[in-house]
Amino acid sequence: MKVIPYGKQDITDADIEATVRVLRSDYLTQGPEIQQFETAFAAYTGATYAVAVANGTAALHLAAMALGVEAGQKVITTPITFAASANCVEYCGGEVVFSDIDPATYLLDVTTLREQLLADKSIKGIIPVQFAGRMADMEVLRQLADEFGLWIIEDACHAPGASFFDSNGTKQFAGNGVYAECSIFSFHPVKHIAAGEGGMITTNDKALYDRLCLLRSHGITRNADLFQHTPENIGGESEFPLWYMEMQELGYNYRLTDFQAALGRSQLARADEGMEKRRAIARKYAAAFANEAFVFGQSGFVEGHAYHLYILEVADRLGLYKYLRANGIYAQIHYIPCHLMPYYRNKKGGQKALPAAETYYQQCISLPMYPTLTAEEQEFVIQTVKAHYA
Ligand SMILES: *Cc1c(COP(=O)(O)O)cnc(C)c1O
Repeated sequence: MKVIPYGKQDITDADIEATVRVLRSDYLTQGPEIQQFETAFAAYTGATYAVAVANGTAALHLAAMALGVEAGQKVITTPITFAASANCVEYCGGEVVFSDIDPATYLLDVTTLREQLLADKSIKGIIPVQFAGRMADMEVLRQLADEFGLWIIEDACHAPGASFFDSNGTKQFAGNGVYAECSIFSFHPVKHIAAGEGGMITTNDKALYDRLCLLRSHGITRNADLFQHTPENIGGESEFPLWYMEMQELGYNYRLTDFQAALGRSQLARADEGMEKRRAIARKYAAAFANEAFVFGQSGFVEGHAYHLYILEVADRLGLYKYLRANGIYAQIHYIPCHLMPYYRNKKGGQKALPAAETYYQQCISLPMYPTLTAEEQEFVIQTVKAHYA
């Protein structure tokens, strides 16, 4: 039986050639490909700077570090996300506060968020997640953040190429650096742009950019403009010798390799094409399930949505999941709410109930959504879903 997964990478001959070209070159890592990928990715999002890193989780960790998350600090995020969105706060010794979702968008509910911020002045930042590829109104989040003196890390792992219209009617893209201090992306194979593993941080803030570059590579710099010592106080030399470098902070090795960067850049060149296909698939699902009594909610067709996932909320979710699987359709559940995970539940004080997120979780299922899903395969998915309820 042919299996139809919920997501799948698309590797072309051009991708393979781009990767192999680097494998035959002088640099497997720390070569010229990284900067070319960064430049292309910054241009794609509209941000001024981009920093390539080992994966999306490393991107979140560095972003949280660079924004100064430390012991005792609280940061708000959504429970309907991959655990890494929250874990980056814990890596830095901070404390995650989960806030409930808006059942209509599956994103952080702004009214609840405001209530939480009013009730707890020790919250320092927000990590909104462009869940499934749907953009939050980042302008509203920025206003809220400014009112309470908070920073924003935009988790845009699901949303490269997603956009929303601001109050002036201007189209604003995910990761463009206008509303968030920085934005993070992942190049895991289920995401829009596949590089095996990989991640990116975009920002318009030069100081933040410099700090992220430093932290990505052990906290070591070779840039003489940034040296803290003088030649005299490193051993009486009259100049900085070529080998000289300084470790100025406790950083990590979170670098991306050059062959991954080449694969990522080759994939990025086809991103718009893939997005059109995802949107065409979404349109078809939205129409197919518009009037079904067993559907309580769905992603629908939303302007600017990047459709990393297409979600249905249904009756008898477990039954549907098993029926689809028996028919070779490997639908998936995104996500088990983070605040219900043992790690977070077992923390001191526990976790308060988040009714909208918990209800969503009981009925959500992600249907196959990827650019190479054929019209016949999608039709089979739609008919199989309907057959379960017939
Ligand atoms: C995939 C993902 C991450 C983590 O990215 P990795 O590259 O797998 O480390 C973080 N947040 C969200 C929302 C994701 O989907």
